[in-house]
Amino acid sequence: MLNVIGCITQDHNYWLVALAAAICICGSMLTIRVFARLKDVPADRRLMNVFLAGVIGGATIWTTHFVAMVAYDPGVDHAYEPILTALSLFIAIAGVSLGLALASTTNRSHWVEAGGAVFGLTVATMHYVGMHAYQIPGRITWDNQLIATSILLGSIFGAIALNQAARPVSKYSLHFGVGAMAGAICLMHFTGMSAIKIDLDPLVLVPPKMLSDTTLIILVVAVMSLFLFVGLAAHLNEKIIEQNAGEACQHAKLHDPLTGLPNRSQLSRYLDRLCSTAQSDSNTRFAIVTIDLDRFKEINDMHGHAAGDATLEEISERLLGSISEGEFVARTGGDEFVAIKSDYTRLAEVSAFAERLLGRIVEPIMVGALDLSVGASIGIASYPEHGEDLKTLLSNSDLAMYRAKDSLLDTICFFDEVMDQENREKIALANDLRTALTAGHFELNYQQQNDVETREVVGFEALLRWNHPVRGRVPPADFIPIAEKTGLIRSIGRWVLATACKEAASWNRPYPISVNVTPQELVQPSFVENVANALSESGLEPSRLELEITEASIIDDQKNTLEVMRRLKELGIRIAMDDFGTGYSSLASLKSFPFDKIKIDRSFIDRVQNNPQSAAIVRSTLLLGEALEIPILAEGVETEDELGFLFKEHCSEVQGFLFGRPMSVEEVRSLTGNAEAKNKVVISGKSDTSIAPLFSANFTIVSA
Ligand code: C2E
Ligand code: MG
Ligand code: MG
Repeated sequence: MLNVIGCITQDHNYWLVALAAAICICGSMLTIRVFARLKDVPADRRLMNVFLAGVIGGATIWTTHFVAMVAYDPGVDHAYEPILTALSLFIAIAGVSLGLALASTTNRSHWVEAGGAVFGLTVATMHYVGMHAYQIPGRITWDNQLIATSILLGSIFGAIALNQAARPVSKYSLHFGVGAMAGAICLMHFTGMSAIKIDLDPLVLVPPKMLSDTTLIILVVAVMSLFLFVGLAAHLNEKIIEQNAGEACQHAKLHDPLTGLPNRSQLSRYLDRLCSTAQSDSNTRFAIVTIDLDRFKEINDMHGHAAGDATLEEISERLLGSISEGEFVARTGGDEFVAIKSDYTRLAEVSAFAERLLGRIVEPIMVGALDLSVGASIGIASYPEHGEDLKTLLSNSDLAMYRAKDSLLDTICFFDEVMDQENREKIALANDLRTALTAGHFELNYQQQNDVETREVVGFEALLRWNHPVRGRVPPADFIPIAEKTGLIRSIGRWVLATACKEAASWNRPYPISVNVTPQELVQPSFVENVANALSESGLEPSRLELEITEASIIDDQKNTLEVMRRLKELGIRIAMDDFGTGYSSLASLKSFPFDKIKIDRSFIDRVQNNPQSAAIVRSTLLLGEALEIPILAEGVETEDELGFLFKEHCSEVQGFLFGRPMSVEEVRSLTGNAEAKNKVVISGKSDTSIAPLFSANFTIVSA
């Protein structure tokens, strides 16, 4: 009778014992590491990783067991039955995979520990199947109590191993996990071995065609090496995938998703680097080139966002293709780009750089069958001449770009302290304008329009007022162009339309109301719908609404404007041509566009009776109106003499300070018989009003 455990310390090849221990520890480390990362692996790759950990873990148990077996020399011939040996490997891999799969379903429930227990049971099953493969000239008997203890120990340590790996509580948890897994394998193995008693019997023969120690050890080392290498390679592969995903995430953070160009964040990083170089090297120079596309909004409005996106993509590709070393380009907003030029000696090189970029931008762009083109306004600020810190440089480059936008001749402007001061003011206004609508800083004033013969009120024009909290009342001439440039006019215009319609609908006397509309509002695809909504929400009769558009709307895009006007007229509203005579007035446009009224600009009415040129223009406009059967309204009538002249020339309507300045909502309500106003004039401090003595004779004004 031979007690195996007793032999462990005696009849062993210690090199092989050391090899078994090394395999057990390395394999446990790898298994626990792959398992611990399972929770970060995307669901579609998780099963594959569970199997990978199963292969490594299973091979570790199996190899440790058989190397330890080979390390033992019982002093008699012995061998291993090949089928059971192979089966034990299969059980090890399948059982460990199952345990890890269970443990990785969730890290909150006890499935983790259950999976660990399955791991321990697998070690035991593999061990005892493996022991049945052990062939020796004698009979093996088993101690059931020790078998049970070995199974229990394997399961407990397995559960501890996965618990530590799945729910780490300290930075040592993973090490504890590895230790517990190695412990599960070793304790199970040695307790299992001590449960065996072998009675040597020379009559029991070791069958032929069995695996010898040498064959087995070669097999074991080959299998283990193969699995470890496969495991290691797969693990490294997983890490590379994760690293690539991390890099892709980093790329996404720093690049614009539409064009792939660097975004504002990357621009900041690039500029920070340039700035720190500049601080340590006084020869460093760099220039910030701000590019804003011209006519891009029109492409979006007229051809849709897909065409707009395609245009941006094409331009970005061109910009990227035209920069070289020491140059950089980023997309910083809708149609805004910032390019950087460093390592130059003369500013002329920066100019040439900007010219090169501009040249690529203005080339025609084909989007499907559409032949599109955009322009650009470019501003440049260079370090150190135009600023020594990034904030100043960026803002100065912006200012120079705004000057380029305003200029008819220059497309590329360098920052100029004196010239850009005015734009600094505009940018400050633009910033305030962004919040003015939500802050409730806008109000509408209403200016009456009168019949020349009877002097009666025939309608009102809604005029926008901005009550700036610091600057006081800002004139529309100052902020409407900024609202147009920034695109804010669309939301402001919607508010004006809705407010004016609602106001007019509340009047007892059904006067018509005129609302000014900019060319930019008119080209919005949703404009007609907005008008229809304003009418239906306010309940205003469409025939009471008149939209005032300027010649610029017609000139910009004749075909589209005509179509929009036709649809507006279908709604039943009226359209007036505002400021007639100030633009490129074309008689042909008057003939082809269905205007219901022409408003002669006030510059021609000013002292018209004494100015032969103005008088000639006004007379011919009145004749034209008569011929085309379009009523004419003269704007800016301030004196009785001007009114007298217009009366003589058969002008039908007038609007001007002679009859009344634009008045506040309370004042207009007292004229129009709004229920809330109770026919009282409340003179608001904010209104332009000084109620003129000559407004309609029909109303009695009682000062509040
Ligand atoms: P507009 O449409 O030609 O409006 C008439 C302008 O002439 C108003 O100036 C009015 O106050 C002024 N006015 C009227 N009678 C006289 C007069 O007898 N003498 C003088 N010197 N001026 C007179 P306001 O309110 O400053 O508006 C200026 C321009 O701003 C408007 O010209 C219009 O183009 C634009 N605007 C005003 N409100 C809006 C709006 O709600 N939307 C849009 N898109 N533009 C608006
Ligand atoms: Mg007007
Ligand atoms: Mg006008």
